[in-house]
Amino acid sequence: MQHEFIRPISGNLTRRHFLYLAGTGSLALLWGCATHPVTGRPQFILMSESQEIRLDKENSPHQISADYGPVQDRALRDYGSYVGHEVSRHSHRPDMPYSFTALNAPYVNAYAFPGGTIGITRGILLELENEAELASLIGHEVGHVSARHTAQRMTRGLLAAVVFSGAAAAAGPQWENVVAGLGGIGAGALLASYSRNQER
Ligand SMILES: [Zn+2]
Repeated sequence: MQHEFIRPISGNLTRRHFLYLAGTGSLALLWGCATHPVTGRPQFILMSESQEIRLDKENSPHQISADYGPVQDRALRDYGSYVGHEVSRHSHRPDMPYSFTALNAPYVNAYAFPGGTIGITRGILLELENEAELASLIGHEVGHVSARHTAQRMTRGLLAAVVFSGAAAAAGPQWENVVAGLGGIGAGALLASYSRNQER
């Protein structure tokens, strides 16, 4: 689904902090050559699991309120949570702190935050015919969490920021602001949603 919505990080690894670390050579300490939880191949990630969870906790409540909060119907909430946990416990990252929230929003949407907070709107629930369809929708969202897609995109965004900052410095002071501005746009766009490839 097109949906995942991330605000800029506050307090975590900011771009300035990253540049500082890169400049002082301590970037190597952060070099996260993790193994991709799904494919088993090496995955270059500059974000730890605890950072993914913190980013989730800082950002997901705003999105849940923007989508009019959890539905009142207790049975529906429990059912969504039950199906969600049945799916996530068979995922590649079963130990993430998953939560599955049926939201009041009437429009069709579903999303996943990097720590496992998954939101599904009333609008999309009405489109589903049966439990299997709900499970596959949840499976799609859990897939984004399992494959660490947010961390992957943010890593690319940070690297893009470094490259653009380098380009700005090389181009000289008069171009610095222009190029740095472009870099900011590029990095920001990377954080706004999952890529087509990740959706696939
Ligand atoms: Zn998706």
